[in-house]
Amino acid sequence: MVRRGGRPPGLAVVLAGDDPASHIYVSNKEKACQEAGIRSFARRLPASVSLNQLLDTVGELNADPAVDGILVQLPLPEPAMETEVLQAILPEKDVDGFHPVNGGRLLAGVAGFLPCTPTGIIALLRHANVPLAGQRAVVVGRSNIVGKPAALLLLREHATVTVAHSRTRDLPELCRSADVLVVAIGRPQFIRAEAIRPGAAVVDVGINRTDNGIVGDVEFTKAREVAGWITPVPGGVGPMTIAMLLENTVLAARWHLGLDPQLGNPLAVLESVQGGQ
Ligand code: NDP
Repeated sequence: MVRRGGRPPGLAVVLAGDDPASHIYVSNKEKACQEAGIRSFARRLPASVSLNQLLDTVGELNADPAVDGILVQLPLPEPAMETEVLQAILPEKDVDGFHPVNGGRLLAGVAGFLPCTPTGIIALLRHANVPLAGQRAVVVGRSNIVGKPAALLLLREHATVTVAHSRTRDLPELCRSADVLVVAIGRPQFIRAEAIRPGAAVVDVGINRTDNGIVGDVEFTKAREVAGWITPVPGGVGPMTIAMLLENTVLAARWHLGLDPQLGNPLAVLESVQGGQ
C-alpha cells in the first residue's frame, strides 16, 4: 500500500479523561497499529475537555489527509456529549462504525463501515465454521455498539435472531433455545452453564474487572463443558475487535487513496470485502 498509495494507512484515536480501562484499550490499539504498519495519531485530552474542543479535534482530523480513520474512545468524561461527537466524524472516516450514516447502511443492508466488535463476532463464528443460516441465535444485550448490530449481522447471515435485554422474561429458558448465543451485558459470569443448550456456540463479549481478574459475562469453566464451542475472556472477542478496527482502517485507506479504481463506487471497496448483504 505504501508503494502504491504513497503513505501508510492512518488511524487517529481521541482519548479524553483518565479512565484506566480506556487508556489500556487505546495503548493496545496503538500497539496493534504499529505491528500492522498503520500510522497512529493519538489526541489525548483532559477530563475537563469541552464539547467545542472535542468537535474542533474531530474537525481537524476530518480535514487531515494522512488520517483515514477516526476513533473516539468511549465513554467520554461527559457521556451526554457522545452522540454529537460521534456524529461529527466524517462517515468515510468512521472506522468504528458508530456514525448514524453507517448504522443506517447496516440496517439497510448496503456497504458501510461495520462496528468492530459485532464484525469480529461474525468473523470468529465463520472461522470456526459454526453454521448460522437457519440457526436460532439469541443475542443478550441491545446496546448500539454490540447487541443491536450483532443481531443485524446475524440476521444478514440468515440466522433466526432474538434479542434479549434486562426486561426479558425467563432469560435462561430463552438462552437454552439458542444454537448460537451471544452475550454482551457487562455482568460477571451472569449466564450459567444451565442456560446453555448442549453443543451450542457461545460468544462471550463481556469484559468485567473483578477481584479474580478479568472475566466474561458467561460462567466459562462450567459453560465450556456444555457448549460445543465458546470464546474465552480474556481473548476471543477482545482481540478480534482490534483486528476488525485495523481492517476497517486499511479499507478506509484503500478507499481514500483510490487503490481500487476497478470497483468504481468507493463504497464498493467495503462491499467487495463484506460480500453479499
Ligand atoms: P451496555 O451497558 O451498553 O449494554 C448492556 C446491555 O445488557 C443492555 O442492553 C442491558 O439491557 C443488557 N442487560 C444488562 N443486564 C442484564 C440482565 N441482567 N439480563 C439481561 N440483559 C441485561 O454494554 P455494552 O453493550 O457496551 O457492553 C457489554 C459488555 O461487553 C461489557 O462487559 C463491555 O465491557 C463488553 N464489551 C466488550 C468489547 C470487546 O471488545 N470484547 C467491546 C464492547 C463492549 P437494557 O437495554 O434493558 O438496559
